Amino acid sequence: MGVKNCARCGRLFTGVDEICPSCAGQEQAEFDQVRAYLGRHPGATVAEVSAQTGVAVAQIHRWVREGRLRLTAEQLGEELHCQRCGTPIDHGRFCPACLEQLARELSHAARPDAGKPPPGAPASDRTGGSKKPRLHTRDDVKRRFG
Ligand SMILES: [Zn+2]
Ligand SMILES: [Zn+2]
Repeated sequence: MGVKNCARCGRLFTGVDEICPSCAGQEQAEFDQVRAYLGRHPGATVAEVSAQTGVAVAQIHRWVREGRLRLTAEQLGEELHCQRCGTPIDHGRFCPACLEQLARELSHAARPDAGKPPPGAPASDRTGGSKKPRLHTRDDVKRRFG
C-alpha cells in the first residue's frame, strides 16, 4: 500500500493496483468490450479488435501479458517469445519450463551461492526484434564498451 502514479493516466493515487480506481473502472469496461468482441469474432486479430472497440493495441497486449486475455500468435500478429529462453509461447512472458525453473530459483534465492547463470542461458538480449539471437554483433560491442 502506498502512493504511486497510475500506470494509465499518471495521476497519484493510493492503492495496491497498478492503476487508479477511476482507470480501473474504465479499463474493466474496455476489457468487457474486447472480450465480448472476441466472443463474437473468435480469431480476430489485435489490430482488428482495437479498430472495432477503440481499445488501444498496447492495452490489449498488456492484458495478454497479465494473462487476462489469451490470444494466439496469429491474433497478436507477432510471435511471443519466452523472455528467458526465447521459446515461442502463446501467452504470458515465460514458457512453462522456465516458469518452473524460475519458481525453483526463487526458492533457492536465499542461498549464498545462488545467482550463477544456468548453463546454456542466452546472453541478455532484450532488444527483441531479430528472431535469431546473435551474440557479439558490432552494435552489441559498442553498447557494452562504449
Ligand atoms: Zn488512472
Ligand atoms: Zn523459456
